[in-house]
Amino acid sequence: MTLTGVPTGTEYVRRQNTGLVLRSLRSHGPATRTELARRTGLAKATVGTIVAELEAARAVTQDATVSSGRGRPGRPVTLTGESILGLGLEVNVDYVAAVALDLAGKVRVVETRPVATAGTPPSTAELISMATDIRTTLMREGHTVVGATVAVPGLVAHDNRTVSWAPNLGWDGRHLAEELEEAFGGGCPTTIDNDANCAALAEAAHGVTTDVSHSLYITGTIGIGAGIVQDGRLIRGGAGFAGEVGHMPIGNPKRVCGCGRKGCWEASVGLRAMLNAVDMEEENTPLQTATTVANRAARDAGMRDALAALGHDLGTGLATLAAVLDPAAIVLGGYFVPLGAYIVPAAGEVLAERLPSASIHLPQIRLSSLGIHAAALGAAEDALADVYAGTLAL
Ligand SMILES: [Zn+2]
Repeated sequence: MTLTGVPTGTEYVRRQNTGLVLRSLRSHGPATRTELARRTGLAKATVGTIVAELEAARAVTQDATVSSGRGRPGRPVTLTGESILGLGLEVNVDYVAAVALDLAGKVRVVETRPVATAGTPPSTAELISMATDIRTTLMREGHTVVGATVAVPGLVAHDNRTVSWAPNLGWDGRHLAEELEEAFGGGCPTTIDNDANCAALAEAAHGVTTDVSHSLYITGTIGIGAGIVQDGRLIRGGAGFAGEVGHMPIGNPKRVCGCGRKGCWEASVGLRAMLNAVDMEEENTPLQTATTVANRAARDAGMRDALAALGHDLGTGLATLAAVLDPAAIVLGGYFVPLGAYIVPAAGEVLAERLPSASIHLPQIRLSSLGIHAAALGAAEDALADVYAGTLAL
């Protein structure tokens, strides 16, 4: 499989049509060629050619002939693509993670490696080492890795290759995409995306927002970020920085943020603000920390009040965002998940009270179901996106 320049004329149309067939099989399940032609609006002969090509590329299989009851029996075409994989990578403050996803949406590899030196964010070398180990193993098993996407906790420019700002990592990721592509030996196009964007995509494809077309995902770590999904695609904004909600001036105006300003939202609702509120220490990961807090809160009314107050501040921000974006559902990830029972009711009350359209439509607040691998899973989805879009030829 190769990535080539933008094709013209018939080649362009052929790839678009291939993308259409793949998306139909993914969204609506197996179908005969006749059904596929009806679903996509393509001529049956065109569908036949595309299916034959996809079968040769091991992306689909055609089952044995089954009778449809009347007329000519058809052979259902099923998206399989076990050997065609997207590699999702995540680099975070205390770990690197990877998920390999096949074309049919099945997770093939999940791996997490803690940082080599505790308290020091992972180096690009740690990420590259894990990525090349996994790709080499997959290729030895006969798989094709069509692309890789890296989720990073920071600002990623619109080219999806340049890390513009990742203060929590403390390194310059401007050449990360090139370094990875070089380490992969040139056969695996690599892009970079923001971790909240990736987690939002993962929730929309595999998690708690598969049933809605417009969702807002909020990360819950030291920083607070958002990913906005509409119809399966991310809303990225003009420079690619949409969703940088943590520094909106809607927090307690006296609180000093890590960015040096006062009143940022994340200075009121980020992980460290939560720990301050309940007077507890940070543990290894946000999830582990929040689980310990949740266990204590179950027995401590004062702590539950502190968490409800934080939920109130969270709701103020969510009401602001919901007024602008009108999401059908808001997903809380990271440390919010174990503390959902103590935070979500207060946040929901503020949302209902402050959102002007609440009486007509109140976005549901849901908790992420994907755990620590959400961002890497979404990155793997992103790595396959060009195949489904028809821009990457099989
Ligand atoms: Zn700030």
